[in-house]
Amino acid sequence: MSDTRASAPACFWRHLVADSKIEWTGRSDWNPIRGCTRVSPGCGGPGPHGGCYAEAIAGRFSDPGQAFHGFANRTSAGGRWTGRVEVQWERIGLPLRWRRPAVIFANSTSDVFHEALPAHEIASIYAVAVAAHHLRGHTIQIVTKRPDRARELLNSAEFWDQVNAEAGMHVMEHVDPLDRRSDDARATLDDYDATRPPPGIWIGVSVENQEWADKRREDASGIPAVVRFVSYEPAIGPVDWAGWEFLDWMISGGESGLRARPSHPDWHRAARDFCAAHRIPYLFKQWGEYGPYQGEHGVEGGWMDPNGSYYGGPTQWPPAADERRAYMIRWGKKAAGRRLDGVQHDGMPA
Ligand code: SF4
Repeated sequence: MSDTRASAPACFWRHLVADSKIEWTGRSDWNPIRGCTRVSPGCGGPGPHGGCYAEAIAGRFSDPGQAFHGFANRTSAGGRWTGRVEVQWERIGLPLRWRRPAVIFANSTSDVFHEALPAHEIASIYAVAVAAHHLRGHTIQIVTKRPDRARELLNSAEFWDQVNAEAGMHVMEHVDPLDRRSDDARATLDDYDATRPPPGIWIGVSVENQEWADKRREDASGIPAVVRFVSYEPAIGPVDWAGWEFLDWMISGGESGLRARPSHPDWHRAARDFCAAHRIPYLFKQWGEYGPYQGEHGVEGGWMDPNGSYYGGPTQWPPAADERRAYMIRWGKKAAGRRLDGVQHDGMPA
């Protein structure tokens, strides 16, 4: 299948700042929240399987005096959040200082809609995002595993009152009287609400398998945003995407990292084909640690069924051949690459 679906070129953000290693964003260094908690298997499986990279890093720097002391612990299964979650007020205004327009993945190391944060603190983060778009031309991408909270807040008049008031304040505060663009920004700043969500803020919902796709779909569809998307990463189970036609973008990818779980090629093909059928831009982010192998036998790996059953190691060969069974090997993220059936998919919202 050819990549006729890429509705925006791969270089969409290349004329902007592109410092992030994450393939679908320009920068991921605005992290105004510290700490998180696991909420579903995409955050990590039981024991040592899979795992949130932010949690792993936090665990590594959790000694007294280090940045994540009190926010995470080091355990035999890797880093583990303690449940402490706080806004880092000294970092909240960073995008307002970045003058070169960028596509920014906000809070890549936590969840903006975490239940431990009061609504007014989330509104403050949102207000910075609104102002950053108007002042600096940034596009802010927010991904959450808590679409229920996102839906509730982004449909609340009280929430928007605070966002509008604080965004206006930020714009005024950061306006350089000699900067013509700042005047424009001030002029175009509007009163936003659920019926008129602000431009430049995209909301993504993270989905990892059918169970969590079903649990999150209704809330995802009720989130007011100019771009609504799904991050199907790490894909750890198949998903039937019927009901997700409202999406403006979909990303899929396998898991990376030491404890990664493989994802079956059919899962990504299903995401790709659903997007093609509904004219939704699709981006295949990566295979992650494991990717399919179709070369000579004798390479260590494991067979995987479309239902997720995995037969790894020489003593666990599957009972019978199945043409949908894929042979997966541990390539490492870089070698596994990001081509699906030989094609690189870089679709972005127009
Ligand atoms: S919600 Fe995100 S940041 Fe929080 S534990 Fe899960 S994967 Fe990590």
